This record gives sequence, structure tokens and C-alpha cells, in this order.
Amino acid sequence: MNAPDVFQAAGRAGRPITGELLIDAHAHFGHGPDFPIIRPTAAALVASMDRLGVKMTCVSSIPAIFGDAEHGNALVADGIRAYPDRIFGYLVVDVGYPEKVAAQLAGGRAAGFRGVKVWSYGARPGLPYNHPNYEPVFAYANEHAMPVLAHVFGPELDELEDHIKRYPRIRWLLAHIGSAELEKYLRFAREYPTAYVELCLSSCPRGLVEHLVAAGLEDKVVWGSDAVFLDQASQLGRVLFAQIPAAAKRKLLGLNAAKALGLERSP
Ligand SMILES: [Zn+2]
Repeated sequence: MNAPDVFQAAGRAGRPITGELLIDAHAHFGHGPDFPIIRPTAAALVASMDRLGVKMTCVSSIPAIFGDAEHGNALVADGIRAYPDRIFGYLVVDVGYPEKVAAQLAGGRAAGFRGVKVWSYGARPGLPYNHPNYEPVFAYANEHAMPVLAHVFGPELDELEDHIKRYPRIRWLLAHIGSAELEKYLRFAREYPTAYVELCLSSCPRGLVEHLVAAGLEDKVVWGSDAVFLDQASQLGRVLFAQIPAAAKRKLLGLNAAKALGLERSP
């Protein structure tokens, strides 16, 4: 094996990674509906980012995902206000209440949210992404060129495909690659210039990161942690210690997210 690269070396030494752009593209604030989460706050997340060397974390609210968009998004808005250069907000809207959606989208953008998070029925009853109630959400994101982080465990990709074709100004972050239907995720990443695949997962499939890079997707894979459900450190380790070149780690850990999230265009 080659000498450790800067990523591996920092990970081994337990030092923050310095001089590199690390962006966590998938994280959350707030308590879950049915299990406790330890210190699910902006301050705790920023402390974790400082320990690791993560520049920016992209957050949606857990209560908002589970049906309370108003209070949930407020938690993220507070985080954006407190840490404007560290926290990027994904807005969640109540697609079950279509009459509320337009005002929630406009209010969220005004409050500084720069992306949208959608969370389908994977782990609870809900609407599929091809339900008409999602139409105004994706149309709005397309109009404002906002990235959309979509919870996916495989089958939901089919529901998104038509939206991906119809809304070319949205960059799509397809979450949880490695959960299921790997080949389908790969096909989306290859076929659609606007589709990225995102890594966070509570398991650590052996060889996944190496496989994605070997498959030619090093420009389309984005690192995320699912903090505060999961620990940022363990999810970061999946990339730090992957057997891939340092140049590929640099893309996965930040450069690709900067593109997908449109951060390259901001000052
Ligand atoms: Zn998540």
C-alpha cells in the first residue's frame, strides 16, 4: 500500500483535516419521533465539524420530515442564522397539505434555505415522489435552481426519474447509495448530468466507495453523514480510509458537493 494520504493520516491521528474543503451534504437537527438522539442541536453539530475539519454541513429538520414542517424548519433556520457559513439549510414542506406548500417554499427561501429535502414513504406512510402534490415543490426548486436531497432506498428512484428529466435546473442528491438497488443508482448517476449519489448509510458495505470510483463515478459521488442520527466521524471514516486516490477523496468529500449544491456560484 502507498503512504497514507492527508485524509488517512489525519483520520489515524484523530486530527481535524485542514487545507481541504469538506462538505457534509446530508444531516439533520432535532429529535426523532420514536427514539432519542443525543444533543441534536446546531452547536453540537458544529463542534463535531470542528473536530473533523468539516467546513459546511447541509441540514434538514427531523421533526419537519415527520410532519411538523413549521416547527422543524424553524430549528434549521435558527442554525443558519447562528452559523451562516457552516450550516446550509434544506427546506422540508408539508406535501400532505398542498394548500400550505407555496407559502412554506417562499418563506423558507426568505429565511435563507438554499435547498429542498424530500422524504418519501420509505420508513412510514406517505406520498410517492410522483404524486401530484410534489409537482409545485419540484417546479419551485427548478425555478430557483435549488438542489434537492431525496431520501431514496432504491424503488423511489423510479418515481423521481420523470422529474429529473423535466427539471434540468435541479441538481439531485440521491441519498443512501448502497442501501439497495445499487445498479439503478449507478445508472442514474451515469445517465443524468444533474444526478449525484450520496453516501450516508447506517451500514458500511464493504468495498462500496472503491466500487463507485472504479465504476467511473468519482465526479458524481457526494459524502453525507446523516448526523445527528449517525456520527459524522464514522461516516467520514468510510471515505478517509477507502482504498482510492487522495484526489478522488477530495472530490467525494467536498468538491462534488460544492458543484451539486451550487456553492461554486456563491461569493
Ligand atoms: Zn437523513
